[in-house]
Amino acid sequence: MKSEVHLSPRQHYEDLFDRITVDSCREIERIYLGYEFDPDKKSGEVPSQAAQDAIRKMNTELRLMWEIGKRYSKREQTINDWIDGDKAKDEMLENAQPPRGIRCNGCAGHMTPSMKTLYDLFNSPDRVLFFFDCDNGCKEKRAMFENGDEYKPKPYLCPDCGSELDDDSERKGDVITTSYKCSDCGHAHKEEMDMTPKKEAIDPNFEKDRKRFCPTGKKAERYVQGVQSMHDVSRLVTEWRQKDKDRPYYDEINKMNKLTVPQLGVQLNDAMKDTGFIKLELSPPDVDQQVVVSFSVQDERSDREGKSSEYDFKRLLKQFLANTNWRLMSDGVHYRLGVLTGRLKGYDREADMMELAKQRLKKGKP
Ligand SMILES: [Zn+2]
Ligand SMILES: [Zn+2]
Repeated sequence: MKSEVHLSPRQHYEDLFDRITVDSCREIERIYLGYEFDPDKKSGEVPSQAAQDAIRKMNTELRLMWEIGKRYSKREQTINDWIDGDKAKDEMLENAQPPRGIRCNGCAGHMTPSMKTLYDLFNSPDRVLFFFDCDNGCKEKRAMFENGDEYKPKPYLCPDCGSELDDDSERKGDVITTSYKCSDCGHAHKEEMDMTPKKEAIDPNFEKDRKRFCPTGKKAERYVQGVQSMHDVSRLVTEWRQKDKDRPYYDEINKMNKLTVPQLGVQLNDAMKDTGFIKLELSPPDVDQQVVVSFSVQDERSDREGKSSEYDFKRLLKQFLANTNWRLMSDGVHYRLGVLTGRLKGYDREADMMELAKQRLKKGKP
């Protein structure tokens, strides 16, 4: 039984891959070397001829380096994938078994499969199609899938009356002539199909360009590194832009009064002077993603207790902490028998400080 073979020697796939690379690099050269400079909007001038040539050459080389490096990086994998794909097709074809007991629609005689092929629908062959000839030599043919489903080609309809046309083909050399006849209205016409294998146009510069655009070994690695450093540069530029956008926040962070735990103790104590709040005590800090410190202070004023004591101390804290990297935690401040307790959270990671700066800029500084 005849069937097509998909797998070719490795050289075939390498040639195919390099052909695509050469074509796309040639296209890049055509576009970049042929770039026309627009006159400057203000001065109406264009760069000097020498400058134009230099810019065109530089841009072409950069763009080519990118293309060559990218193509080289995926060359091996792509070729292997192609080979695996073709191997899989051949295996599928080889393993497929023709359906049995197929009979001729003309004479009811036995039919024998003469050819099998992959049914290539939308480029994803998923079924094997068998072609059957009648053992008695009728012209009847049938095409069946492995599971016994019949393949029905779209009927070719008469252009005059719309009935289905009868056809008969004849091959002379590489030309197949098909005669169509309408049994209803008598319409008839012929179509010719030239099967002469197409000669590939000779490309005299292919090998030369292949050497330029499809490097191997150390030379190729240099292109890959070139692509990598271009990636790095574009990442840096993005980072700079981001930094620029974030500059107000960084300025805010720089202005922030960043306090360590001991500094927090000393400065908060100072801020409490003459407010009636005394005896600040900080517990050993709990260090995790942020640093959390519990505090207690005493209120020595006898005219203040409960909520109003809590309120005054919270206001004091808010003012004192506003420009620092510390915040009162959401459980707030609690008053019992002249003692106020609560927890403070300190930030030292860049992302957290950024968040504080954003909040502060959004609210407007107190
Ligand atoms: Zn037959
Ligand atoms: Zn007709």
